This record gives sequence, structure tokens and C-alpha cells, in this order.
Amino acid sequence: MATIIDGKLISEQIQNEIAIEVQSIAEQGGKIPHLAAILVGSDGASETYVGAKVKACEKIGFESTLIRLPESTTEEDLIRKIGELNNDPGIDGYIVQLPLPKHINEQKIIEAVDPKKDVDGFHPQSVGRMALNLPTYLPATPYGIIQLLERYNIETSGKHCVVIGRSNIVGSPMSILMARNAAPGNCTVTLTHSRTKNLKEFTLKADILIVALGKAEFLTADMVKDGVVVIDVGITRLPSDKTKSGYKLFGDVKYDEVAAKASFITPVPGGVGPMTIASLLMNTLKASKKEVYR
Ligand code: NAD
Repeated sequence: MATIIDGKLISEQIQNEIAIEVQSIAEQGGKIPHLAAILVGSDGASETYVGAKVKACEKIGFESTLIRLPESTTEEDLIRKIGELNNDPGIDGYIVQLPLPKHINEQKIIEAVDPKKDVDGFHPQSVGRMALNLPTYLPATPYGIIQLLERYNIETSGKHCVVIGRSNIVGSPMSILMARNAAPGNCTVTLTHSRTKNLKEFTLKADILIVALGKAEFLTADMVKDGVVVIDVGITRLPSDKTKSGYKLFGDVKYDEVAAKASFITPVPGGVGPMTIASLLMNTLKASKKEVYR
């Protein structure tokens, strides 16, 4: 039976470690890390995500600033606000919560963020530095997965890693990170996507599977070999009459049957999901300590 990778526990551990470090920074009279978040409009899910990020900052002793802008904010107004944050020495890092209203070009906004403060790791400079294995801010979900592999001492060197899904926020960066000459890393990587033919031929050869396509219970036991390490990134919310809330979260992996064959597996919820906040806080600490750009 597989070892269950407890993302909730690891995320709490990381947050405790950061809290201790912040306390010692404070005792030495150093600058308290300060994260800002811009929220445009009032999308329900975005409100929840940003709220959780601000709350996490408070809990570990970071300063945080939430900047709320109305749905009608123009692209120029948002870029002006971003310019202010870029030039504010008090703010170590900030995020612009996505998605943005349709009339705002997201790529333009991502590129307006000063790479030195790009704690979401979405700026092309951050992505380029990641590909070159230079110090940078890694995007939250991939950074969280790397932490899980590291903290569970999962051997990656020389292994065959198959990634399913090639999004800019998960699949593509994961394929880059797992192939880097680093630890975790040094894998032989196959990046698969919607145009991949005979996917099962690839997944059956995987020592490590990173599944991020967004289709509930897509990966089944007949698609994996014994002893595989499975990282399930998917989150799909489906109606359910078995829960009080009326819905249930599903990963991209048919958990019970795949867990029976795997050596390690992340559950959904409680696996990769809780790690994203820890990643953001780690990036903000790095920004504050000028570890990426001196
Ligand atoms: P996306 O929706 O942007 O893209 C999906 C990818 O899957 C595409 O690259 C597509 O080519 C590929 N794909 C689709 N069907 C496929 C198939 N049949 N075979 C192989 N590849 C296929 O992806 P995303 O934004 O990375 O999200 C993926 C899932 O991960 C979603 O469920 C999302 O909610 C979840 N997610 C979770 C977290 C987390 O913190 N746990 C973070 C981000 C995304």
C-alpha cells in the first residue's frame, strides 16, 4: 500500500518554520516580509483564495496588504497600481489574483510586474530563469510539488517522469523542473497533453507520474506500473448527494485503485492543494531576504 503524501501537514510544517524565522528577524530588528495582493472585481473563488493568502500571512507574522479594485478598473489603472507597488520599497513581493476581468490583458499585466517582486513566478523572466536553473521564484503549484518530493525523500534522479497536461501554471513548469540538473530533478521527462497518442503506453513506463489535466478520476490502475509515485494535481468539483455541502472534490486519479499499486500518492483534497500557500510564503520570504536578486 502506498505512502500517502500529506500536503496539509507539510504545508503547516513549512509555515511553522517560516513563522520561527520571522520571529527571529523581528527580534533582530530586521524588516518583516510584506506581501501585497491585488484583487480586481469580486469573483467568489478569487475572494476565497486571496482571503486565505492574507490570513496565512497574518498567522506567520508577515505584513500583508490587500488592494481591492472595482471590476470596472481599466488596464491602464491596473498598470499604474502595479507601477506603485514596483516602486514601493516596503512591499517585498505581490500577486495579481487571476483571472482578471475580460477587458484586461492578463499577459500584459503579468509582464508589468517587476520580476524582483514576482512571487507568483509567472513573469517570462522568472520562467526563463527557471529553465536555466538560475535562482528565481518558482510558480506556486510546481514549487509545492518539488517540496513534497524533497520532504518525502523521493528519489528522482534517473527516473522516468511522465507529466500529463502542459499548462503554463502546472504541467509545463513541472516538466522543466523535473528535467533540471538539480535535486529533486534529473529525471528523463515525457510531457504529454491532449494531442498525445496512446497515452497509456507512456504512463505504464512512468516511475513518477504528475497528473494535471483536470478530468476527474482519469488515471486508472491499468495505466500505471507497480511502485509508481503519483502526484495528483487535479481538482474537479462535482455534485454529490453523499456530502452535506452537496458537492465533492475529485482528483485526476482514481485514488483507491491507483493507491493499491503506487509507492507514494497525493490525496485530493489534502495533497498538492494546501502546498500552494506555503510556496507563496516561501517566495515572499526569499524576496524579503533578497535571495533571488541581490
Ligand atoms: P489546464 O486546464 O490549463 O490544461 C489542461 C491540460 O491537460 C492541457 O495542457 C491539455 O492538453 C491536457 N489534457 C487535456 N485532456 C487530456 C488528455 N485526455 N490526455 C492528456 N492530456 C490532456 O490545466 P491546469 O490549469 O494545469 O489545471 C489542471 C487541473 O489541476 C485542474 O483540475 C485544476 O483545477 C487543477 N489545479 C490544481 C492546483 C492545486 O493547487 N492543486 C493548482 C492549479 C490547477
